[in-house]
Amino acid sequence: MFDALLIEKSPDGQQSVHVRQVDETSLPDGDVTVRVEWSTLNYKDALAITGRGPIIRQFPMAPGVDFAGVVEKSSNSAYAPGDRVLLNGWGVGEKHWGGLAQKARVPAAWLTPLPSAFSTRSAMALGTAGYTAMLCILALQQQGVTKESGPVIVTGASGGVGSVAVMLLARLGYHVAAVTGRETERDHLTHLGAAEILPREDFSKPGKPLEKARWAGAVDVAGGQVLANVCASMKPGGVVTACGLAAGMDFPATVAPFILRGVTLVGIDSVMCDHDRRVKAWDALAKLVDVEKLESQTKEISLRDVSESAAALLDGKLHGRVVVKLD
Ligand code: NDP
Repeated sequence: MFDALLIEKSPDGQQSVHVRQVDETSLPDGDVTVRVEWSTLNYKDALAITGRGPIIRQFPMAPGVDFAGVVEKSSNSAYAPGDRVLLNGWGVGEKHWGGLAQKARVPAAWLTPLPSAFSTRSAMALGTAGYTAMLCILALQQQGVTKESGPVIVTGASGGVGSVAVMLLARLGYHVAAVTGRETERDHLTHLGAAEILPREDFSKPGKPLEKARWAGAVDVAGGQVLANVCASMKPGGVVTACGLAAGMDFPATVAPFILRGVTLVGIDSVMCDHDRRVKAWDALAKLVDVEKLESQTKEISLRDVSESAAALLDGKLHGRVVVKLD
């Protein structure tokens, strides 16, 4: 028997979340069984656990879109018992048993070998948020945005994706402008490497089709009006990576930045990203991340604390990264 966080739905449609003792017959099909050591709390997990967003496709479901642990059993030659692995996305924690449980069973193709620079804990301190931040930065680099091109703006800078993006971009030598709605996070963002801090309210209201050209690159987790305003303030040839919808699903923009300044908008999807790009992103994280700095902003919680932390994350009350101890 092992512990799992389960989201259940009663016949009258009420959702409830409990830590349950389950056995291996609860696990789905898959060729690799993993003893999960650590998971983390992502925006999508928080929506699923609080029921504030339609993330879970079938009930009961163990949420958790990522995990890191040790292979226990494998019928696939790619992995052997004892191998350290991690997983991000692929519908895990949405339609396939997720990482907020002491065991997981998945197809081998979904796993990524854990880079030796990371413990299973530090990998989850980065989690899907950190890996998505790295995908955004790889996309900026691939589109030719260098530190000489000009400043890079990061929205939702004190959140999971945003804070890691600020830390990595600063490490790479970029001038980082961090947009936040939390004045209290100013010192933290400066510590991570932000060169300037901008209030979120400057980006939240409808603006002009073209604003003053300021940014060579952007990592946007907000979507909605914020993304539209970021696009309007890009320099000619600027590149915007869009990965989130914290401000909304809509995109109330004009084509002006694209046709008058040659701005490129790059969509980032971490869930179905191909295996080679995942490995590239994790290898880049292994080279760039200051594990000590990461640990200093990481808080440890247990499965029983997850529901409360999920609500805090969505209410903007969580500070730094959260890892969930499962071992
Ligand atoms: P967090 O909740 O940790 O961070 C989101 C941040 O967005 C908040 O901390 C806040 O930052 C900012 N924010 C919140 N509300 C608003 C608003 N109304 N307008 C503008 N900014 C706002 O979430 P994550 O960083 O984990 O995820 C961010 C987004 O990225 C989510 O939408 C998530 O679904 C998406 N995502 C997408 C992935 C992909 O594959 N495309 C993968 C991972 C995440 P501050 O207080 O500093 O302003």
